[in-house]
Amino acid sequence: MSKNLKLIFLGAPGAGKGTQSDIVAEKYGIPTISTGNMIREAIKNNTEMGLAAKSYTEKGALVPDEVVIGIIAERLAKDDCQNGFILDGFPRTVPQAEALDKMGVDINCVVSIEVEDDKIVERMGGRRVCPCGASYHTVYKPSAKGEFCDKCGEKLIIRKDDAPEVVKSRLVIYHEQTEPLKEFYGKKGVLTLVQGQEEVQDTTALTLKAIEDAIA
Ligand code: AMP
Repeated sequence: MSKNLKLIFLGAPGAGKGTQSDIVAEKYGIPTISTGNMIREAIKNNTEMGLAAKSYTEKGALVPDEVVIGIIAERLAKDDCQNGFILDGFPRTVPQAEALDKMGVDINCVVSIEVEDDKIVERMGGRRVCPCGASYHTVYKPSAKGEFCDKCGEKLIIRKDDAPEVVKSRLVIYHEQTEPLKEFYGKKGVLTLVQGQEEVQDTTALTLKAIEDAIA
């Protein structure tokens, strides 16, 4: 019998973590926990956490560790995480990864989707998102309903933090603060690097192989 999948997707903003998370979540019947989506939802609903996070998120900066660690601890305690889960966008710093360890969360697979910076900047220009959390790309993953979400029918929008200048500063943060996690999880023997491909399904094939090997 294979183990419950406790998966982290690493990768630059726009590398395809959200897209691959949705596919893997469906295949394994486990939830995707996206801190970015949870933060955007909190901002939309004007919650206390949303108000605290807004100024960071809009300029592409990271929300303070203690805030996101709190969100994750609460979410992982829910029943639907019992049989496994996928973390998309968390951890993003070494202290966040250490906090997961302290919570006793035993991650058994980390997939880092590798995409060159130039390609990221080009791709982000085409990203469209829905307030429901669904994410599209005008070329690589268009909605069947054009400018509207094919899951809920809402009009798709461009994220403020997908503006080219903001993307560039998010990439700097990624290299400085998030990329060291490759070493962190490499040392634990759970890391696989997957080269992001032009076609979503080709990246998925590489990702599923890494997962199967990890939980066999
Ligand atoms: P994402 O949708 O994953 O690109 O996240 C969007 C924004 O939410 C980021 O640019 C940060 O401002 C914030 N955010 C999401 N996850 C984290 C995290 N793990 N640590 C700090 N900030 C985060």
